[in-house]
This record gives sequence, C-alpha cells and structure tokens, in this order.
Amino acid sequence: MIRIAIIGGGISGLAAAFTLEDHRRAGALEYTLYESSPNLGGVLRTEHIDGCIVEAGPDSFITEKPWAADLCRTLGIGDQLIGSNDADRKTYILVRGQLIPMPEGLMFMVPTKILPTGLSPLFSWTTKLRMAQELLLPPRAAAADESVASLVERHYGAEMVDRLADPLLSGVYGGDAASLSVRAVLPRFAEMERTHGSLGRAMLAARNKMPRTVNKTAAPLFTSLKNGMQQLVETLVPRLNPSSLVTNHSVQAIHPEAGGWTVSAGLKSDNFDGAILAVPSHAAAKLLSVSSPELSAELAAIGYSSSITVGLAYDREVRQSLPPGSGFGFLIPRSEGKRLLAATFVHNKFPHRAPEDRALLRCFFAGSNAENIWQQSDDAIIAVVRDELQQILGLRAEPLFARVYKWKSAMAQYGVGHLERLNRIERLRQKLPKLALAGNGYRGIGVPDCIRSGQEAVKQVLTS
Ligand SMILES: Cc1cc2nc3c(=O)[nH]c(=O)nc-3n(C[C@H](O)[C@H](O)[C@H](O)COP(=O)(O)OP(=O)(O)OC[C@H]3O[C@@H](n4cnc5c(N)ncnc54)[C@H](O)[C@@H]3O)c2cc1C
Repeated sequence: MIRIAIIGGGISGLAAAFTLEDHRRAGALEYTLYESSPNLGGVLRTEHIDGCIVEAGPDSFITEKPWAADLCRTLGIGDQLIGSNDADRKTYILVRGQLIPMPEGLMFMVPTKILPTGLSPLFSWTTKLRMAQELLLPPRAAAADESVASLVERHYGAEMVDRLADPLLSGVYGGDAASLSVRAVLPRFAEMERTHGSLGRAMLAARNKMPRTVNKTAAPLFTSLKNGMQQLVETLVPRLNPSSLVTNHSVQAIHPEAGGWTVSAGLKSDNFDGAILAVPSHAAAKLLSVSSPELSAELAAIGYSSSITVGLAYDREVRQSLPPGSGFGFLIPRSEGKRLLAATFVHNKFPHRAPEDRALLRCFFAGSNAENIWQQSDDAIIAVVRDELQQILGLRAEPLFARVYKWKSAMAQYGVGHLERLNRIERLRQKLPKLALAGNGYRGIGVPDCIRSGQEAVKQVLTS
C-alpha cells in the first residue's frame, strides 16, 4: 500500500488530504497528516462573539481565483458562499491625517479614468502630470526582475509608491513594495510594460477587449462563507479519515530512505513512499536541513512577515458616526507615521457579519510594526489600536469587545528574484524521492492559491 505523509494541517495540507481521500477510499493508498498544534486549519480561524463573526486570519478570498469556491462547492457548501458588498466598495487612504477615497477608475493603482483621478486630492499635480506622461511610454522589456516600488516609481513617481502601491501590497503580503518582486507579485504589470509600455494604455486595451456585461451583474471582488472562513475547515475535516489526522505532533525532520521518506515526530519515526510539506517554507527548510542542506537554504531564504489582527465591536452610535459611505475601510501609507497598516469596516464589507446595531472593525499590523508591539499584552495592543482610531476617525468610544490575534511569520514575502529561486528549488526537489512542496511560500499567498498548491502537490507526489 502506498503511504503518503502530509506535514502541516493548514488549508494547503487539508486540500492535499482531501484530494488524497478519494484514493484512500478506493483502497489505493493511505496517508497521515501531521499538525503541530491542537487545531487544523492553520491561520483560518473564526470566532463568533456577541452576534459578530470575527475573522482572526483571512476574512475572504479573491473571487477571480476559483480554487477556494470550487472546493466549497465540492464539499456541498456552495450555497454558503457570499460576495462582498461591492455596492459599498470604497477604500480610503490616509493622507496628512485625512481619509481620502481612492478615485473611481483606479485599477489596482493604474488610473483608467481621467476625470475622477484628475480631480482627486489623493495625488499632487506632479503625480497627475506623471500619469498623463505615462500614457506615452514606449514598450520596454526589463532584463531582470525588480521591485514593485521600482516599476511603479518609474511609471508614476514616488508619491504613487507611498500612497498606493505600498499600502495596497502591505494589506496583502504584510511586506513593502521596495522588496516585493514585480514578476512574482504583479506579473501582469511586467507583461503590460513589455507589450504596451504604458500601464494605463495596457489597462484600457484590456478593458476594451472584455465582453460587455450589459444585463449581467459583475461578480463581487471578494468571496467568503456565511459563517466565516473556518466553515471551510469545519466542513472539510469531517470528510477526512479521522485516523489519518495526527494533531499535536510537530515533525522535526524528514529523511530520504529506500526511495521514500522517514518522518520523525517526537520520539517516533514512520516510513512513507512520498511526502508533502504543506508548511511555511521556513518550516520546510528546517525539516530538510540535514537531508538536503542546499534545498533547505533556498527555502529558508524566502522571507516571511508576522502580522496582528485586532477585531473590535462598537454600538449603534459608533456605526452611525462613521462617515457616510465609509466603504470597506482605509489603508495607511508609511509616511503617515502610524503603526496600523489598515482597517476594514467589516459591517460594510460583509454586512451580515455584524448585527445592524453594531460596527465591527478589523485592524491590521504587519512587518516591523507588528514585531515592535509583539511582546505587548493584548490590552496594550488594543490601546495602540484605539489611540490610532481616535486620531484617524475621532473614535473615542469604548469597544463592546476587542480581540487580538497574532500570526508569527505566516505571510510569505516574494522578494526580487523569487521566480528564479523557485526554479532552483524545483531542480533540487527533483533530485529527491517523491517530495512535493505546498503552501503560501511559492506561487500565491491567498487561500485559493494555497488550496491549488495542496491539490497540485498530490499530483506531483503520485506521478513523480
Ligand atoms: C492575518 C492574515 C490575513 C490574511 N488574509 C487573507 C485574505 O483575506 N484572503 C486570502 O486569500 N488570504 C489571506 N491570508 C493568507 C492565507 O490565509 C494564507 O496564506 C494561507 O491560509 C496559508 O495556508 P497554509 O496551509 O499554507 O499555511 P498555514 O495556515 O500557516 O498552516 C501551516 C500549518 O503547518 C503547521 N506546521 C508548521 N510546522 C509544522 C511541523 N514541523 N510539523 C507539523 N505541523 C507544522 C502549522 O501549525 C500550521 O497549522 C492571510 C494571512 C494572514 C496571516
């Protein structure tokens, strides 16, 4: 009987286990999933507090990437999928202490509508002039990878990096635009520059090619589950073989042996024909440090950042006091000198996640801002959040409840040269017996990418 080990019980490892489950039922193989913590799901965690649905980790996923919604449908919870309330989709940027809405027509950070951008106080006249000049840029094939900040600055100037590129990417990767790779993080931008030169012209050309959706409502930007992201885990786990799931077992190392792998967890070792490492790449590096120091060094070089989310609920008065059309929330450029990176008005983004008489806010710290307050107590972190919310929103009220969630080195940072590193990793991996890598360290940090990585890892380990 073929035996497969999965290390890591986050959504990547669970997606791999679910894919293997059909083979197991058919009697073709057996698998063991090792998870170091008592709980499965990794960073997917939802708390239900006082009628509010509070997400500790991810709150949703991008609708455009199908793998998470497809998995929900396969699990029979397609009817539980909900879209973000895009009628109220407005994001604010803090500029010199004022919340300024992102103008209509900005596609990611590329302006496609002249009037709203031209009139917006978000940008100085110098940046607006750069936007107009950008439309004239000729095609350019970059010889090497570069940072997102470098590409954006070349097109629109430093202000665009500070006010949009950096805050937008911090919200997704918890990292900064000056170190993230364009080719790994925004491959479309690199391609648009190669084909059109101007990102603005390329975006307009792509938009003109899109089929007109006259009577069709556009899909929401974000999708989630009615009862929160943990609903995915709670539906998936009962569909797995209970005796294949080993929680509270931290794997220390894996060693190639007799064409397969020996997995050492605690005082016990077990032999498998193949292994799927569905852990952050820094954890995969540790597991392989003796058996493949070269691969281990490449995995260890993929950066990770830590993050803290804080959920706060307020009463009806606070909800009514927030600016009308307050939208999904706001992002804070580094130049504003705040510790918070972003805040989401959850009651607007996913209205049923808070009763109508509650305001539910989700605040986000990442990178050095999270590290700097990491050791502080929850009360002290909540005090930092409240202080900044008071400065930004004038919000002085006592929250009805507040919860702090810390995620150590959980968000991968795809630095400049990431894709070349992945090629080197792939070459080294192929030299080893059946081994697959899944998780957010490689080809996508979002939940749908992680699910796909788990599914593909199964194919890889069964066919290699
Ligand atoms: C705060 C936050 C907000 C996010 N928001 C979004 C969002 O809104 N939308 C979105 O799409 N994505 C979001 N992401 C990203 C996404 O949630 C993650 O990239 C994804 O869930 C990672 O899943 P994973 O299974 O690869 O890793 P993890 O969830 O980190 O799971 C890895 C598991 O491996 C276990 N493990 C580690 N080492 C060992 C070992 N030696 N032995 C056994 N087990 C081990 C860990 O305990 C953990 O359970 C967010 C991430 C964070 C942290």
